[in-house]
Amino acid sequence: MPTVTRVRKQLAADGTHWHIEGVCTEDGTHYPRAEVATRIDRGEAWFSSGGGAETRIRTIVSCPMPPCSASPYLTTAPEHTAANNLENLPRC
Ligand SMILES: [Zn+2]
Repeated sequence: MPTVTRVRKQLAADGTHWHIEGVCTEDGTHYPRAEVATRIDRGEAWFSSGGGAETRIRTIVSCPMPPCSASPYLTTAPEHTAANNLENLPRC
């Protein structure tokens, strides 16, 4: 079960925001966003860890910042703590 502890951000094509380019797991391995989305859609369980709690990562069609079309995209629902929200993890 891959556990993500850091995220890598990239500047969106239109320069208006930074979004997730990929993630890094607890052993420091970097995975591009598209690879993680493919693996989650195949049924793998990926978790985001922060603030002492884990939450499941899920895929969404595209980056939630319109009109950004980065797709597919990854998200988490904040549960109990926002510290494990993917967007809030430390950078890698
Ligand atoms: Zn975006």
